[in-house]
Amino acid sequence: MSDFAGLRALVTGGASGIGRATAGLLAARGAHVAVLDLDPSAVRQPLLALRADVTDDASVRTAVQEAAGALGGLDILVNNAGIGAQGTVEDNDDAEWRHVFDVNVLGMVRTARAALPYLRRSDHAAIVNTCSVAATAGLPQRALYSATKGAVYSLTLAMAADHVREGIRVNCVNPGTADTPWIGRLLDAAPDPAAERAALEARQPTGRLVSAAEVAGAIAYLAGPLSGATTGTALAVDGGMQGLRLRPA
Ligand code: NAD
Repeated sequence: MSDFAGLRALVTGGASGIGRATAGLLAARGAHVAVLDLDPSAVRQPLLALRADVTDDASVRTAVQEAAGALGGLDILVNNAGIGAQGTVEDNDDAEWRHVFDVNVLGMVRTARAALPYLRRSDHAAIVNTCSVAATAGLPQRALYSATKGAVYSLTLAMAADHVREGIRVNCVNPGTADTPWIGRLLDAAPDPAAERAALEARQPTGRLVSAAEVAGAIAYLAGPLSGATTGTALAVDGGMQGLRLRPA
């Protein structure tokens, strides 16, 4: 497929997991792709690797400028870099709350702020934010993480409204539990990784984890020409977790 031929994309957190699958898919479909990541050492040609920390405004601005300079502009921003947090409101202190909000919410704000001047010059401008089923599902032991993703959801709607007349579409994907290195680390840290994995699988009506490729496919849809009439939406990629309103037996 070459439906992204000539389009220029920047994917944050694109060195691992969902971002990595997305960057690879967009490139395979003809886009020129830059990856912004804390550690882009695993990123290979033809992807352009840019080292930046989304909590550092100056490094984000520099990376976005470099991406737009090297690719000749920007049409697509995939705001995907994010980190997890576990626990109830009693388990994370103020510093943790500030840090996770800094990465998951302000990180997307900084990247969007830096990219918007370039996106305005594009005829196919789209922003896709990686949100989560946690934004709306009321998951236990995820107070801080869920609050950041609730903010990402609201931010997506507000940005969609602000930029629709400029021809810039803004949508988000809401993955369920996706089989990425992040979830691998979470399982490794569990007292019984196999039991924890089974519990995560059972939480999704399909009975399995979502793949990074499945989330990447949804992001590519929202970033690409086939979704030209879609803005201000959240696309669930969660094995039916939210839409079916099923609870584990
Ligand atoms: P991952 O840990 O495999 O990849 C995340 C990438 O983001 C890494 O390459 C990391 O280096 C980068 N990153 C982290 N902090 C950064 C920073 N400050 N600056 C720049 N880059 C940074 O994780 P993943 O599972 O692929 O998650 C990607 C996104 O998907 C996140 O926003 C996450 O909240 C969301 N998500 C994941 C799941 C899941 O189950 N895996 C479910 C719902 C939503």
